[in-house]
Amino acid sequence: MTWSRLYRDPKGTLWEAVNTRGVRLTFYLLLTAAMFPSSRFILLCVLLVTLGVMWTRDFRRYGSPKVFYLAAVLALLVVGYGVARVNVVETDEARLTKRPWGDGISQVTDGTYVGRGQGFRGPIEVRVEVKNHRIVGIEMLKYPDLISVRDNEVAVYKKELLEKGRLERPEQPGMYRGAPETLTGYANAVESALSKGIPDFPRYNVFSEVYLSSVIGTAPGRVTLNALAILFAAFIVFEYTLQSMLTPGTGRSINCYNCASCVGACPVKEVEGVQMPMGLVLLTRLGDYERVMELSKYCVGCGRCAAKCPIGNSGPLVISAAFQAARKRKQQERLEAREDTA
Ligand code: SF4
Ligand code: SF4
Repeated sequence: MTWSRLYRDPKGTLWEAVNTRGVRLTFYLLLTAAMFPSSRFILLCVLLVTLGVMWTRDFRRYGSPKVFYLAAVLALLVVGYGVARVNVVETDEARLTKRPWGDGISQVTDGTYVGRGQGFRGPIEVRVEVKNHRIVGIEMLKYPDLISVRDNEVAVYKKELLEKGRLERPEQPGMYRGAPETLTGYANAVESALSKGIPDFPRYNVFSEVYLSSVIGTAPGRVTLNALAILFAAFIVFEYTLQSMLTPGTGRSINCYNCASCVGACPVKEVEGVQMPMGLVLLTRLGDYERVMELSKYCVGCGRCAAKCPIGNSGPLVISAAFQAARKRKQQERLEAREDTA
């Protein structure tokens, strides 16, 4: 796809993009990354590896540089992750003696500080005021968990902190989903605000800060990983149905009950281990058009299968769809090869 082509024929280019599995996969993973910020790093790696695998076929045929770009980005991502993690671990160890929990509040100079912590649904942001080495005010600036978690526990915890004037661990209620994460996120936000008031508090370097906020986030929990696995499985199922619907000429072959009525009616029945024409329907749905074209010579075009199929599939119809789809695929590959060499 080129920008000039997008300008000349936006509708056609968009349709072609929707018709491309790599584009659909990218869209799906970006959408999932937006829904699960803590999984961004994993999703980005999955996307790069999957696109790399998909484009390796192009690479063998045309030596496309896309695979090299992907490999380079993936390598940078992984090396960047390693460097950032090392800095984060070292800095966290140095922080242990300086954290503002409990009596550590005595290290915090008076002032107002803003801090962030990861809640159940996203980052919680607070502004904390310190006077005479005591917490005297906490203001909630961002609170995405409000939509799913009752406010009560946070209000009680805040009151407790203000009464004691220092940061204590929250008691973890297990009454409803998300409450422990919200309270921990709130406490971490207050901690991160207070740590800004400790003059020599060890800080992450700029690279780690950027990497943490843009790519790594927090490590995804079990629930998130399970949700991702379910979403991905749903995508794969959807994708295999959608692919057949989007490829012109295969529209009538997307459904098959595997009832084998057509096989019973067909005079050929089975060739080269493929039941006729049910096997052709399956091969077309899987996108193995070349195999359907090879086997098409056995179909005598009698039309008996069409009379038996409850949804109107027939050998000739499926074969014609496979020919059309194969031709379109070849055109597409030629076009991409031309664009790659341009
Ligand atoms: S049209 Fe082809 S696939 Fe259908 S019954 Fe006749 S020979 Fe078999
Ligand atoms: S008769 Fe139709 S639905 Fe049944 S197996 Fe053959 S193609 Fe599929």
